[in-house]
Parts: sequence; structure tokens; C-alpha cells
Amino acid sequence: MIVNNPAAEFGAAMRDYLDGKGDDALHRASEAARRALAEGTPLVERVEQELIAARRLIEEERRRYQILDQAKTQAARRFEFLAEASNVLVSSFDAPASLIAVARLAVPRFAEWCFVNLLEDDGYVHQLEVAHAYDNELARHLRKYSLFRSKAIVESAGVTAQITPEWCDAIAENEQHAELLRNLCGHSAMVAPLRIRERVLGSITLVAAASAPPYSTSDLALAEDLAKRCALALENSRLYREVIAERDRAERASRGKDEFLAILSHELRNPLMPVIGWTRLLLNHSLIAQDPVLVEGVRSMERNARILGRLVGDCLDLARISEGRIQMERRPVDLNQIMVASIDAVGATAKEKSLTIEYDLAPDALLVLGDAMRLEQVIMNLLVNAVKYTDSGGKVRVSCRQYDLTAEVEVTDTGIGIHPAFLEHIFEPFRRGSGSWLTHQSGLGLGLAIARRIVEMHGGKIWAESKGVDQGSTFRVRLPMAALASNEGARELGHTLEQGDVGHLKILLIEDSEDIVFLLRIELETMGHSVITATDGSTGLALAKSNRPDLIISDIKMPGLNGYELIREIRGIPELRGIPAIALTGFGAKADFDRAMAAGFDACISKPAEPHDISALIKKLTEHQPEGK
Ligand code: ADP
Repeated sequence: MIVNNPAAEFGAAMRDYLDGKGDDALHRASEAARRALAEGTPLVERVEQELIAARRLIEEERRRYQILDQAKTQAARRFEFLAEASNVLVSSFDAPASLIAVARLAVPRFAEWCFVNLLEDDGYVHQLEVAHAYDNELARHLRKYSLFRSKAIVESAGVTAQITPEWCDAIAENEQHAELLRNLCGHSAMVAPLRIRERVLGSITLVAAASAPPYSTSDLALAEDLAKRCALALENSRLYREVIAERDRAERASRGKDEFLAILSHELRNPLMPVIGWTRLLLNHSLIAQDPVLVEGVRSMERNARILGRLVGDCLDLARISEGRIQMERRPVDLNQIMVASIDAVGATAKEKSLTIEYDLAPDALLVLGDAMRLEQVIMNLLVNAVKYTDSGGKVRVSCRQYDLTAEVEVTDTGIGIHPAFLEHIFEPFRRGSGSWLTHQSGLGLGLAIARRIVEMHGGKIWAESKGVDQGSTFRVRLPMAALASNEGARELGHTLEQGDVGHLKILLIEDSEDIVFLLRIELETMGHSVITATDGSTGLALAKSNRPDLIISDIKMPGLNGYELIREIRGIPELRGIPAIALTGFGAKADFDRAMAAGFDACISKPAEPHDISALIKKLTEHQPEGK
């Protein structure tokens, strides 16, 4: 470096020396000192000046480092605070509670006061929280008021270096409000609106301690960042509430639909019972039997009434399953026996279509713990479908076997098969195959949905396989095996009640549908009984008292005295207490059966009731009359 001033050169060389530039710097310093002395420069003063300048530089440098350090610490604190606040905000969908927690996090770190205000839909500004750093008297006093309730404040963003009386007057709604605000004069404040897509939801107002430095624009940036996160949390919480409300609405609508289905099915069962009963009686009538056309006509009526009965039953089941009102028994059930019964049931239809049914049963009883009636419903559904969806001349193959620790039932057909895209939807309610089937195959697309639910309620799995359209289908059910094949249980399986002659009984029949009364009377009389009838509960009770019947069959849902009330009355009368009683119910759910039994009936049968089932029940009840009743 060329410096003309030897004193300055001396100073510079000395600084270099102090900076560690070694002997060269020292040499330059002594050269400069020699020249200065030779020129008569007041060297000592110049050196002093240079040293003062050098010290100042060092001082400035240190200050710069300090400021940088402070900025770094501040940035770290801000980052930490924002991270904590974000954690709080995302931890729950209760945004107001999260905002309160965030306000409490902000004091005393960034403010002495943190006010959170929310703008309601009607424009009212509601104070959600006032968090304050110290529990002093002013804090306690001001906490009671909503200081930043003005809509203008909530919507405006900015920093106020110092709250002034003018500022207070400008935002105050009245003199008292201004006076309260003036308590904060001298403090620095900033307002950050909670804004989401131009919509202001509220604001966060931070007020610094009087002794703290005024807020800067970088502080405002932090407050705005915080406000943005809070606004997002509010919006998410609103959307979440909307989704929940929407889901509740949908669930209510679905419940309404289920209730409607349940009532409709129940109401349809009543008129169905006489239709099915009468077709059965007509088929046996000598006049009809003579005419093949009439026989075919009545058969067709019976077939269709039964299809209708099955559809109604499916609707009722679906409604019950959706409402979780279906209950399963847990008893040992032999799938072999269920399979045999189901094959037997579809035999006639299969024969009509010239279908071959092959079967392969497990060598021993294939026991699962479950509800025999419901499991039969599942297997029947698979078999009915196999027969329904296989063209004449086709083949249906059924097998039952043990597979690992499960019992497996497989139903395979050579029928129309299932499109791969439809395979995954086949077990959804109301899903049916291609439109062309709709025209000639009855069904609501409920059977498989119900079957899946029943299988799942037994802890099992059901699925379908098909290589595609016209390639046949296979349905497989796997159920956990019963722990140990209990012979006791096996003997209990599917026990059917044998019919037999129970002799002549005096039966009191109480049912509000006159058609059902008429039909049942004929059926019971055909069995050899005499029948007294009533179409309401009170008349039924009076007849029971005056006639003391051998057995009572009563509907449940009747005007006035219903079936439950009627049986309670009867069980309360000593001389009638022991009469066996059968409840006739339109719902047929286990819960309805249980309720009927709890009320005092000895047995329960659902409509449309088959004569052989009624006859079997009568036999059972009159043979083993419970004592003391
Ligand atoms: P439904 O038979 O009353 O329509 P399901 O729930 O029993 O109702 O069956 C749903 C749909 O699954 C049927 O409409 C049919 O498209 C298809 N499906 C069921 N079983 C078979 C089968 N064995 N072969 C071909 N398609 C079948």
C-alpha cells in the first residue's frame, strides 16, 4: 500500500502487525516512523489518532456481530414459536380452543397482551381470548372488556409504534371504551387479521409491554404469519364441521330410509300371508286339482307371492342390518346339514331348468358356531343365485370341506359369469348385474349384501370368483370352525320339529287382519282344532277369560291392547296363566322374538307363517307345557 503520509503509513503498518501480518508489517512501521521523524511529523499524536480510528472500527464491527447474533437468536425464537403454534393448531379440529392456546403461547414471549377476536357472520366481533403475561391489577381489570371489538380494527393490519390517545379515540366506540383503551397508551401494538381468501374471520392483536421496544415490521410479518395459520385452522375446523354435519344429515336420511324399508316390509308381510296361504289351500282343493290350467295359475300365484315374500324379507333384513338390530345366535351348526337342506330347497327349480346339482360334503360334521337360520340364508342365497344365473342344461357344484381351521363352502356354476369390473361391487346393496338380467330375473341386489354381513358377523369371509362373462362363477364362504366338535351341539343342530297328531285343541286366535284370521282359522281347523277368533286385543282377552282355550295364537301389533300387553294380562290371571301362547310377528327379528318371550309368550313365529311350522310349534308347546304357567 502506498501512503504519502508517513504517520498514516505507520498507523496502517501497525494495524497490519496487530492483525498478525508479521515482520513485514513491523518493518514497514519502523520505516514509516523513521521517515516521519525525518520530516518532523508529530508522530505520537498521529499514532494516537490512528489507534482511536482503529478502535472505533473494531467497536463497530463488534456491534455488528452483536446485532447479527441477536437477529439470529430472535429468528430462532420466532421459528420455535411458529412451530409450537402450528403444532397446537393442527392437533385438533376445535379451532377456537387451539386459538386460545396459541394466544397463551404468545405471552410473554412476543407480547404482554394477546387479544383474539372473531368476526361472527352477523358482523358482531366476539372476543375469544385475552391472554396476558402478568397477573397484575390492570390485566385483571382490562381482561373483563372486549377492547378490540371494533370491526375496523379486526379488518386492519398494521403496527402502532406507540398507542396514543388519538389512536384510542379513533377506534373507540364510545367514551368509556376510549378510556379503557387509554390504559394501554405508550405501549406498542400490532393487529393481524385472520384472513382466508379475502374473507376476514377475526384478528389477533398483540400489545407489547410498556418497557419493551416498539414492534417492527419484521414483528408484524411474524404476527401475520401466525394469523394466517390461525385462519387456516379456523377454516379447516369449519370445513370439518360441515363435513360432519353433512355426514350426520346423510346418516339421518339413511336411517329414515331404513325405517321406511322396515315399516314397508312389515306392512307388506300382512297381506302376503293370506295370499300365500290361500294359494296353498287352493292347490289342494279338489275343484282346482281337476283343471291343469287352474293348477298352473295357482302355482304361478304361489311362486310369485313367495318371490315377493323373499324380496320383502330381504328389505327387512337390510334395514335391520344397517341399524345394527340383527342378532346372531351362537350355537354349533353343521354346515353339511345346512347344505343338504338348501340343495333340497332349490331342487325343484333346478329340475325345472334341467340343471344338474352335484355336491360333495365333508366326511364329518363341519361345525361352526353360529346362527343356523342365518347361515342357511347365506347358502340358500348362493344356491338360488347359481340356479338363477345358469342357463338350462348347466351345472351347479357344491362342496363343503375343512380348509385349515376354517369351514369352507363353495358354490360353482357354469352360468353367465361375472364381469371383472363388477366382481368388486357384487356384495354392495342394490347392485345388480347387466340390465338385461333385470328384465327376466327378479331381485333387488340385496341377497349378497345381506350374506356378506351375516358371514362377517360370524367372523368369516365371503367372496366371488369368475373368469368373466359366460365363464361361470364360484362363490366361497369361509367360517371359523367351532373350537371342538361337540356331539351334544351336533345333535342340537337344525333340529326340526316333527309334526304329529296332538289331538283336538281349542285355540284362541287373535289377529287384526281379517284375511289372516280367516286363513289361519281354516288351516288350524284342517289340523283338527276348533278355533275362536278375535280381531283386537281386548276382545281376545275377554274371550280368553270366558272360554279358557287350550292355546292362544296372537298377533303383536294390534290397535288398543297389543300382543305384549295382552299376554301380560293373561299371565296375571291365575286360571289363564298356564295356557301356552304363540306370538305372530311381522318383523321377525331376534329382538322382537326376545321381547315377545320376555312379555310372556312361549314361542314366536314370523309372518307369513307356514302351517307345518305352526303345527310343529303347537305340538311342542302342548307336549312340554311349562309348569306353573
Ligand atoms: P339379486 O340376485 O337379487 O340381484 P344378489 O345380491 O343375490 O341380488 O346378487 C347381486 C348380483 O350379483 C346379481 O344381480 C347378479 O348380477 C350377480 N350374481 C350373483 N350371483 C351370481 C352368479 N352365480 N352368477 C352370475 N352373477 C351372479
